[in-house]
Amino acid sequence: MKPRDKDSKKTVESVLESRLSGRVRGLSAYSVPHRECSVRLDGNESPFPLPTDVAERVVQETGHLELNRYPDPEAHDLRALLSGISGFPSGGIILGNGSDEIIGMLVTAFTGGTGKVVCPAPTFSMYRLSGLALGATILEPGLDDRFDLDMAGMRALVEEKDPDIIFLASPNNPTGNAYSEDRILEIINLAGGLVVVDEAYADFSGRSFLPLVREYGNLAVMRTLSKIGFAGLRLGMLYAGEGIVHEINKVRYPYNINSVSQCAARVVLENREFIAENVRLVVGERGRVFAALSETPGIEAFPSDANFILFRAPDADAVFEGLIERDVLIRNFNRPGRLENCLRVTIGTPGENDAFLAALRGALSL
Ligand code: PMP
Repeated sequence: MKPRDKDSKKTVESVLESRLSGRVRGLSAYSVPHRECSVRLDGNESPFPLPTDVAERVVQETGHLELNRYPDPEAHDLRALLSGISGFPSGGIILGNGSDEIIGMLVTAFTGGTGKVVCPAPTFSMYRLSGLALGATILEPGLDDRFDLDMAGMRALVEEKDPDIIFLASPNNPTGNAYSEDRILEIINLAGGLVVVDEAYADFSGRSFLPLVREYGNLAVMRTLSKIGFAGLRLGMLYAGEGIVHEINKVRYPYNINSVSQCAARVVLENREFIAENVRLVVGERGRVFAALSETPGIEAFPSDANFILFRAPDADAVFEGLIERDVLIRNFNRPGRLENCLRVTIGTPGENDAFLAALRGALSL
């Protein structure tokens, strides 16, 4: 080997300085601040563990996997099962390593890196982050005073900018509300580009645009298993026209859903009665927590169709730290603008919710 010229020695800094994409340099990584607390109501996860018999089946079936082999690249069995559950053809279903990955695939396929992405704000940050990483222009019209879609702004944007993708999270994160169906429908009708209705929380609202996907060629519906008990599996689903799925498949990494997730997801979905029961429990607890928050002096709680509630406190930062001191972790969204002094609490088990409500009263010195 030739001795290396000292002057040409590369350092991490020199590589970053000369070669890192300027787009990436300007980004901040998606980060979830980690704080040790026993009551964790910060991640919009399900609070319920797997029923023992289902957990045993998962262990048994994943134990037989040939982990020396690559997984089924098309996840045929799992997609067939999802097709049976949804009544949607499996050719119109594409899976992602979480719906996060699907957002990336959509932006890659539909903006070519330089197109336009609309995501009414405040909303889930990955639309923005994925779009910016690829070089897309991000347009973020504000929501109206009830956190619903502001149709004057949306109409103008669709007409003037003709966006390539519009992401509508309904129910929306972190506001919790589902958008009015007639407004979503009007946008689907107006838009020339793809409208992705992100239904990560639809199990808790009982409403879905999935039945309309076959009717509207520019509509795609995204779902996930993360909020209904299986965040650790990392499995997101997109339901769209078969032609759209065919194209998105070209930018999907091969084997993106690992064998263990494919198998475990199949087992839990084959035994899914407990999921609906857990969703019912969460929806019941959401009503109870909402009522308690609304009665708490100084707190403004926003109505929710999801498995979490956004609320405003007099001093969100102090409440957030006060809750941590009392061993309860929620999510602090305090920032200038619409989310000023806002916090988001995930609905937990009845015991966890009681612990949160007691800790909140303590943090507010009530
Ligand atoms: N969409 C929305 C609206 C979300 O809130 C989240 C999770 N925070 C996701 C998508 C991503 O979910 P996952 O990648 O776990 O499927």
